[in-house]
Amino acid sequence: MTIKKMFIDGKWVHASSGQIRTIINPFNQEEIATVTEGDQSDAKAAIIAARKAFDQGDWSSTPATERSSIVHKIADLIERDQQKLAELESLDTGKTVEESREDMVDIAGVFRYYAEIGDKNGGEIISSPIPNSVSKVVHEPVGVCGQITPWNYPLLQASWKLAPALVTGNTLVMKPSEITPLTTIKMFELIEEAGVPAGVANLVLGAGHTVGAELSTNVDVDLISFTGGIETGKKIMQAASVNVKKLALELGGKNPNIVFADADFNTAVDQAMNAVFFHAGQICSAGTRLIVEESIHDEFVEALVERVNNIKLGNGFDKDTQMGPLISAEHLAKVEKYVETGKQEGAKLLTGGRRPKDPALQNGFFYLPTIFTNCTTDMHIIQYEAFAPIITVEKFQTEQEAINLANNSTYGLAGGVWTNDIVKAERCVAKMRMGTVWINEYNVYFPHAPWGGYKQSGIGRELGKLGLEEYTETKHILHNLKPEPINWFGD
Ligand code: NAD
Repeated sequence: MTIKKMFIDGKWVHASSGQIRTIINPFNQEEIATVTEGDQSDAKAAIIAARKAFDQGDWSSTPATERSSIVHKIADLIERDQQKLAELESLDTGKTVEESREDMVDIAGVFRYYAEIGDKNGGEIISSPIPNSVSKVVHEPVGVCGQITPWNYPLLQASWKLAPALVTGNTLVMKPSEITPLTTIKMFELIEEAGVPAGVANLVLGAGHTVGAELSTNVDVDLISFTGGIETGKKIMQAASVNVKKLALELGGKNPNIVFADADFNTAVDQAMNAVFFHAGQICSAGTRLIVEESIHDEFVEALVERVNNIKLGNGFDKDTQMGPLISAEHLAKVEKYVETGKQEGAKLLTGGRRPKDPALQNGFFYLPTIFTNCTTDMHIIQYEAFAPIITVEKFQTEQEAINLANNSTYGLAGGVWTNDIVKAERCVAKMRMGTVWINEYNVYFPHAPWGGYKQSGIGRELGKLGLEEYTETKHILHNLKPEPINWFGD
């Protein structure tokens, strides 16, 4: 098998240590690729290249219209290679090809969106109180950006960082998750093909505690943008303080999905499943905390269990597969422990709670869709993210109680409300402390709308105009057209 390389200063290179890593398919643990395994020294080389490209190259001063057309070209290339990219993402993550195909459409859309708004971020003239002067505010690139991504939506999360950073004239070093680097490697081939100059976009493969730690601490990195778990986020925040790097954190969630008795019953049941079971629940915004009005609780849970038990697990490449495996043996072991904790703390396991028995699934990291009822806010399984196909159900009697349950979390990423009473819906979402809230909808996002968390779900926003602003510094320029002495210190 050829060893896949990383991309530093416009060249495809092996790690300086010569180390390699094997990438496996979580469906059957077969080896699907061998990649070079970088470390601190490779990260340093990439940072030097990005620094040089920013300080001495033309990218940051290239007209925004030109950068936009290169980003448009990247979107074209993603569309051209959509099917290949989707299949690669499914091999690497285990998710269904259908889901991966939708990811690729979204990814091209992200590049397209930032290409369209990137050349309209020119700044503004503001009125100046100083006579005979012009005062303007301009937006400039931040500099060298470190970008670290997780394994659940490898290329989608990368696109949220790459597109706005490139279009605004930054240079960057990206480190994908060491478990799922394949589509990001392919993306850098497309970045090269689109004509991004050498040194502007660099890719370093390797582990978090080596490559990721170097990106977070190196003083030549001006901004660190991280998507991943909360504990890693805390480490990065601490490391970034070394040179007061700009910081963007997209962390986890334990997201509430509130269902009132007046909601459309069948739609709410169906969407309660969609809220959680895409990509086997390995979604930061998964609506895992189902909060149901007491009067419909039993009927709702019964309908949910019946449907959940019919979810078809299997190979993401099979057309009838609805849910793939978890990402790794390590993650599977964590999920098993999480479910045991739930049982021990008194939650009632209604379905799932174990690996499937189907012999065809034994080589993969499969876990059955799982539902717990009788859950209370003090439980570990209510407070901590499982990142797995697990729904916990809580019940409420009053609207205020539903809101209290929803907000009782250190996280604040996303949430949903299901009701046909629009005034009640608006009252609820006004009080819900989350970065995205859906009414009669779940898990919908698009490039135009900002994404990010309240509370410990993160700092800053990706997507939308705010996602572009993360990658710019704002400068005020005052130009006095008729300078004269003011004689403050005498003449
Ligand atoms: P993780 O924190 O284990 O790893 C994420 C990335 O950080 C990987 O590339 C990893 O190598 C790197 N890393 C690990 N240790 C590091 C260190 N000390 N310094 C620098 N980098 C380091 O997370 P994961 O398991 O890959 O992803 C799952 C998590 O991501 C979940 O908590 C999920 O909620 C979160 N997530 C959030 C969003 C969002 O938009 N808010 C989106 C996707 C995933």
